[in-house]
Order: sequence, then C-alpha cells, then structure tokens
Amino acid sequence: MTATTETETTTTSAAQSNGHVVRVSGLVKDYAELRAVDGITFSVMQGETFGLLGPNGAGKTTTMRMLAGLSPSTSGSVYVAGLDVGRSGRDVRNEIGVVTQHDGLDNTLVVRRNLEMHGYLAGLSYRESISRTREVLGFFNLETRADASIYALSGGMKRRLAIARAMMSSPQLLVMDEPTTGLDPQSRNRVWEQLGALKEAGVTIIMSTHYMIEAETLCDRLAIMDHGQILDIGEPDEVVRHHVGAEVAILHVSEDATREDRRLLRRKLEEEGRDFSEVGPRFLVTAPKGSQPDVSTLTGLVPMRVTYRPAHLEDVFLVLTGREMRDE
Ligand code: ATP
Repeated sequence: MTATTETETTTTSAAQSNGHVVRVSGLVKDYAELRAVDGITFSVMQGETFGLLGPNGAGKTTTMRMLAGLSPSTSGSVYVAGLDVGRSGRDVRNEIGVVTQHDGLDNTLVVRRNLEMHGYLAGLSYRESISRTREVLGFFNLETRADASIYALSGGMKRRLAIARAMMSSPQLLVMDEPTTGLDPQSRNRVWEQLGALKEAGVTIIMSTHYMIEAETLCDRLAIMDHGQILDIGEPDEVVRHHVGAEVAILHVSEDATREDRRLLRRKLEEEGRDFSEVGPRFLVTAPKGSQPDVSTLTGLVPMRVTYRPAHLEDVFLVLTGREMRDE
C-alpha cells in the first residue's frame, strides 16, 4: 500500500521541511480560564512514530485535535507536510489520517461502505474510492469482513477498521488518540502489528498512550506532557536513563514497621536529596543517569527488605509528575 499521495505539492513541501513532516511551535490552547496546552514545540521526522504520554488531563488529546485541524489553536503554529494546518483546508486534511478514542464508524453501513464513504468525503472519485477500499481492506486483513455489519465486529477489528478508514486518503501522517485502550492483549498485538506495517510503509505516526509497553514497543521518540507542557522529549530508553537511571531500588518496609519508622525513612531520603516515590507500602528509589541506586545508608534505619528491578517509563512518570500514567 502506498503511504503517501505522490503529488508534486507534498513532495516539495516535505523537502522544504527538512524531512520533518510535523512542526509544532509555541502551540497554545485555552478553554476559557483553563490553559490546556501551554506553548509546546516539537518536530516529527518522516517515518517516525512519536508518542505523547502524560497523566489524565495533561493536554494530549487537545494537542492532537489541533494537530489534526479539528480544533483551532489559541496561538502558535502547526505545519504538516509543509502546510499550515490552521489555513490550508482540505489539502492538509488529506495528509492527516485521524483515529479518535471513539472510532466514529457508521453503524448503518457495512465495513466496505464505511471505507468508500470516507474516501468520497476525502475527495476521491467513485472509482478511486472503490479501488483504494480494496487496497486498504487487503493491507489491514479485513477482506473477509468487507460485507459485515459494524455490529458484528470485535473491538479489535473496529479499531483496525478505524485506522484503515483514516488511511483512505493515503495520508503522510496518522494521528491516533490511545489506539489500543480497552482492547484485550491479543487484539492489541494485532493493532501493533498493523501500526508496524504502516511505519514500514513510511507513514509518520503520532499517538497518545497510557500504556508504557505500547510506548516502548512502538515509539521511536516520545514527549512526556503534564499540565499542558512538555517535560521532556527523547527516545524511550534515553528518557528512562536520564531521569531514573538503569535500575530502581524497591524498599519493602516490613509490616512490623511503625508510622514513625516510615516517617524516619522519608526524612532520611529527603535529607539525602534522593529521588523517591511511595507506591503503596513501598518506597521506590531511583538514581538519575546512574546504574543501581546505593541504598546502604538506609538499610539499617528501619526493618525492610531491598530488591532491584530495571527502570521503566512508569518510574519516569512518578519522578516527573508525581503521578502514575493513569491515576483515576
Ligand atoms: P486523557 O488522558 O484523560 O485523555 P489528555 O491528556 O488527553 O487526558 P485533554 O483531554 O487534552 O487531556 O485535556 C486537557 C485539559 O483540558 C483538561 O483539564 C480537560 O478537562 C480540559 N478540556 C479538554 N477539552 C475541553 C473542552 N472542550 N472544554 C473545556 N475544557 C476542556
């Protein structure tokens, strides 16, 4: 399946953007008194999969809506394939495929007609839309379900169909809000495979996710957002190493420990200027840019057992935002 519409306009535009399909600069969104997105700047290279991660309400969906031209920005700019999303109308919209959290499929139409209809709405002719539908059904392994009702599809198939539909105009950029939320592990894997195949076909992907494994599996780079701002951008490994080091020490405070013991430990951690968080009955201690945190000064203090595990993105979250990725 071709990933991009091979027109002169888009090729020229991509070249003008130095290989960056997306350029976001000083982007702001206010909802009345609330600043939901607070001056973010980032670029995404052609063929990259870029993740937006952040706790609930961080501003990910609002950012993606502005990227996709679904919501006007208060200030700042978004360029996709060299075109100003705020001003370029259908030209730029055809370069952006959008998959929202709610698939938005038309339940009154069968699978094939959902795709064809989207094709016409994106400006394809009747013949182009039929031929593109055939291509897209094949790419997403949905041929056998072409005449099925939407009601007959599993959650995973609906999600794949929503992605397939977004690809009808052969966009350069696919924007997806939480592509696998609510799917079982097997369906999630199928969606990941499909996104991997789109990446191989050269499609640039921007996605939000609450799943650490999804971000680590799919994203070349990611931005961690909170309160409408980007706290850091980088490759997943790089972000983890930078903020929490290679390993996390877990202090399992004994059940016999008193509240005063926990207070003592907390105070000692603070005095030593440690990066730590309390998760239930445990204390997690990290050492930014380091290998394994040295907790020898803490072990005799209160009754506890110490174990170590590799650091991951969830730990970065706790350190940067004080919250887990999904904290409701
Ligand atoms: P989640 O992970 O829960 O989807 P998010 O990171 O996508 O969160 P947004 O949905 O972008 O966050 O919301 C950012 C902030 O903007 C939140 O405080 C939210 O309540 C607010 N918000 C979002 N949409 C609107 C709207 N249409 N009107 C007013 N406030 C809004």
